[in-house]
Amino acid sequence: MNKRVVVAKFGGTSVADAAQIRKIENIIKSCPERRFIVVSAPGKRFPDDIKVTDLLLNCYEKASAGVPFAAELEDIRRRFRDITDGLGMAFPLDEELEVLENSLKTEPLRDFAASRGEYLTAKIVAQYLGYTFVDPAWCVCFDEDGQLNGPMTNRTMRASLLPLSHAVIAGFYGADMAGTIHTFERGGSDITGSLAACAIGADLYENWTDVSGLYAADPGIVKTPKTVAFMSYRELRTLSYMGASVLHSDAVLSASEMEIPINIRNTNKPEDPGTMIMRHLPPGVKKNPLTGVAGRKGMSLVQIEKVMVSDGSGFSALMLDILKERSLPFEYCLTGIDSITLVIRSDLLESCKDDLLEEIRSTLNPDFIGLRENLSLIAVTGEKATESSDANVRVLQRLTEEGIEISTINQGAGKLNLLIGVPEDRYEDAIRAIYDFRESLG
Ligand code: ASP
Repeated sequence: MNKRVVVAKFGGTSVADAAQIRKIENIIKSCPERRFIVVSAPGKRFPDDIKVTDLLLNCYEKASAGVPFAAELEDIRRRFRDITDGLGMAFPLDEELEVLENSLKTEPLRDFAASRGEYLTAKIVAQYLGYTFVDPAWCVCFDEDGQLNGPMTNRTMRASLLPLSHAVIAGFYGADMAGTIHTFERGGSDITGSLAACAIGADLYENWTDVSGLYAADPGIVKTPKTVAFMSYRELRTLSYMGASVLHSDAVLSASEMEIPINIRNTNKPEDPGTMIMRHLPPGVKKNPLTGVAGRKGMSLVQIEKVMVSDGSGFSALMLDILKERSLPFEYCLTGIDSITLVIRSDLLESCKDDLLEEIRSTLNPDFIGLRENLSLIAVTGEKATESSDANVRVLQRLTEEGIEISTINQGAGKLNLLIGVPEDRYEDAIRAIYDFRESLG
């Protein structure tokens, strides 16, 4: 028997209808190592379509407001009925939906309702493939406050999955000790896939979606950007945190701890190799020194000046304490000889900015404090670039040639790892300029 094990996670568009599920059947059957399958809920079949998770949330909203939700429930029934009919299956859909309906009528629970898309999809796909259905309510363990309990999940998942030869696991949710369902953030089925891969020590975690890998830049800004063949976990985390939305950034964390390679693949083009994410580049592989560029608008910059900030008196620590007290996260913090620069998401700052500036003034007595809004933050990564590479300097040079103001720069040590603040109205120009520079590197 072949010992290699692959966990394959299929996203919303890959299970959007019966035709897509037939595609995933071919993908699974073409490689016997794909023994553990994780599924999302059916996503959009066309641009204006509604994801099943959103239909479920609509039902929940109505139910919790005491408004009839029969029409919304019918939409859900139709989506799943189309799938089971299209696959020629007898599936007890009405019984399953009755459970949901009763729970919405008696005690509407948001996470329970939202999770039913993955639950039903996994049950259907398991029955269709003849695999065992695994309900993550048994093995993805949350604490009562809704936080994932990682160690317990790892042990329980391992115990649940290892005895099985083939299984389909519902993504996106789990349960606490009392059996109450909790979901991850939206897009969280990626996390379930990664947890399953870690629990069984898989050789590979495949993440099947509707693009042939991670683009080197946002295709909404750059026309037909290239996909990246190889990248490191760290690069992927940076790029997905900064908005490249192929894989949930938390899914990368657990896989990278266990050094399980992740392969992003396209269900509609299974012949494409996709993007392979691993700790180190395989020997002999040539790679562009600039892996990718991604960014986010809606950033604010807080600048605090005080003579000899870095004299060891703890000024910076006090500053960060103020943020911690307010549970206000920051994107980055740069301390200089006489200044501290903080980049903070504007939406988080909005409700507290006057108070915050006042507290900094009264607690730290700075020489100057300034707030700059309407910035964007761009991450440029390239693990292959060495310390002697001048790619970072040339990226900045390219932006300057384009007349784009560089409002702030943070250069991580060593590899190409730049965070650049530029005015929001030049964000797209900056992304295009950096991507063009990448292409010029070959
Ligand atoms: N179905 C959930 C969502 O739409 C989770 C997922 O697809 O990963 O966000």
